[in-house]
Amino acid sequence: MPDSVATTDLAYDVERVRADFPILSRTVHDRKGKPGKPLVYLDSAASAQKPRQVIQAISRFLEEDYANIHRGVHFLSQTATDQFEAGRAKVATFLNAPSERSIVFTRSATEAINLVAASYGRTFLSEGDEVILSVMEHHANIVPWQLLQAEKKIVLKVVPVDDDGVLDLDAYRDLLSERTKLVAITHCSNVLGTVTPARVIAALAHERGIPVLFDGSQAVVHGPVDVQDIDADFYVFTAHKLYGPTGLGVLYGKYDLLKTMPPYQGGGDMIESVSFAGTTFKAPPSRFEAGTPPITEVIALAAAIDYVESIGREAIAAHEHDLLQYATQQLSQVDGLRIIGTAPGKGPIVSFALDGVHPHDVGTIVDQYGVAVRVGRHCAEPLADRFEVGPTIRASFALYNTRAEVDALVASVLAVKEFFGA
Ligand SMILES: *Cc1c(COP(=O)(O)O)cnc(C)c1O
Repeated sequence: MPDSVATTDLAYDVERVRADFPILSRTVHDRKGKPGKPLVYLDSAASAQKPRQVIQAISRFLEEDYANIHRGVHFLSQTATDQFEAGRAKVATFLNAPSERSIVFTRSATEAINLVAASYGRTFLSEGDEVILSVMEHHANIVPWQLLQAEKKIVLKVVPVDDDGVLDLDAYRDLLSERTKLVAITHCSNVLGTVTPARVIAALAHERGIPVLFDGSQAVVHGPVDVQDIDADFYVFTAHKLYGPTGLGVLYGKYDLLKTMPPYQGGGDMIESVSFAGTTFKAPPSRFEAGTPPITEVIALAAAIDYVESIGREAIAAHEHDLLQYATQQLSQVDGLRIIGTAPGKGPIVSFALDGVHPHDVGTIVDQYGVAVRVGRHCAEPLADRFEVGPTIRASFALYNTRAEVDALVASVLAVKEFFGA
C-alpha cells in the first residue's frame, strides 16, 4: 500500500458495513464443481445494493402493517399512512428542507425532472425562453427539456466543462440572460464525478430571479446535502442509488414555487373534489401525487436514510474519498489507461478508457474475475462526445467497497491488457 495515500479512518469498519449487505457475500460465475469468484461490486452509481435493514423494513411492513394509505378509516390504513408520512418527514430532514410539504414522491429522479418540465415548464415558459443545462447532464436532465423544447420552442443553452471536467462558471455566467427562465444542472456527474458549486450556481441565477433545479441523484449518496444552504428551488434524487428501493424518486421544491404549479398527472388522491363540472386540486405535495404512491418504497427509503445516518454521512464521504484516491493512484499506473474526469473534490466515480481495447471487452473480461463495472456512455452521450471518447468503463465506489476491491479491479484490468497484448 503506497505511503502517500492516507489509510482509511480506523473508526470506519468496512467489514462490519459489508456484513449488512447479504448480496456482497455471494460469488458469481459459479460452475459445476468450480467455485465462482467473489463479487466485486463497483457499479453502485447505476444502482446501489441494499442493506439487511432496508430489506427487513420492506418485509416487516408487508407482513405487519400493509394497506393503502390516506383514504382509509380502518386501523391498518391509518398505521400505513402514519409510516408513509413519517417517511416524508425523514426525507425532509435528510435534505434539511424547511417542511415536509416541500417533499413530493415520484417514481424516479427521471419522473421528478419530467414533473418540473411538464408542470413548471409548460406553465411558465414560452417561445424563445431559455433553459440552461450543462454538458455533463444525465439524459434524465436533458430529454425532458428537449420534449418541452419541441412543444414550446424554448431554447436550451449548455454550460461546458474544461478538460478536467470542471464546470465553466464564467461560461455559465455569460449564458444567464433576460431570456433565462430556468437552470437545471447536476450536483454531481454520474460519469466524471464532478461536484458542481451548487451555492454559486444558485446565487448567480437568483441575482436575476431565475429558479434552479439540481439533479442530486449522485450527490445525496456521497455527502451531506442541505437544500436551504444551497438555496435550491428544486432538488431531485432517486432512492435506489441511496441503498433504497427502485420505483421511488424525490422532488424537493420550495413550497411557494410548488403552489404556483398545476398538477402533472390527474387521478385519485390529488383532488379536493371531482365533478364533471370541474375538479379542484389539493395543495402540494398531494397535488403531484396522483394515484396510489409507492408506499412500501417510501418506508424502505426511510430505513435506508436511517442506515446511512447510523454510519454517518461525513464518515461515508471520508471512506469513499479514500477509495477514490487509492483507485485513481493505482489505475494511473496502468499504461495506456486514461481517466476521464479529474475535477478537484470529485465524487467516488472513476471513468476510464484503455488504449487499444474496446470498453465492452474490458467490461466482459473483468466480469470473469467477478468485477462488476459499467460500460457505455452512462446515459450522458453529449459528455462522451465532449471528451471524444465514446463508451468508457466506469467504476463507482460506495460505502461498502474496500481497497482490496480496488486491487481486484486493477489486477483484472492488467489481465485484459495481457490478453490483448495492449
Ligand atoms: C441515475 C441518475 C438519474 C436517473 O435516476 P432514475 O432512478 O433512473 O430516474 C438522473 N441523474 C443522475 C445524475 C443519475 O445518476
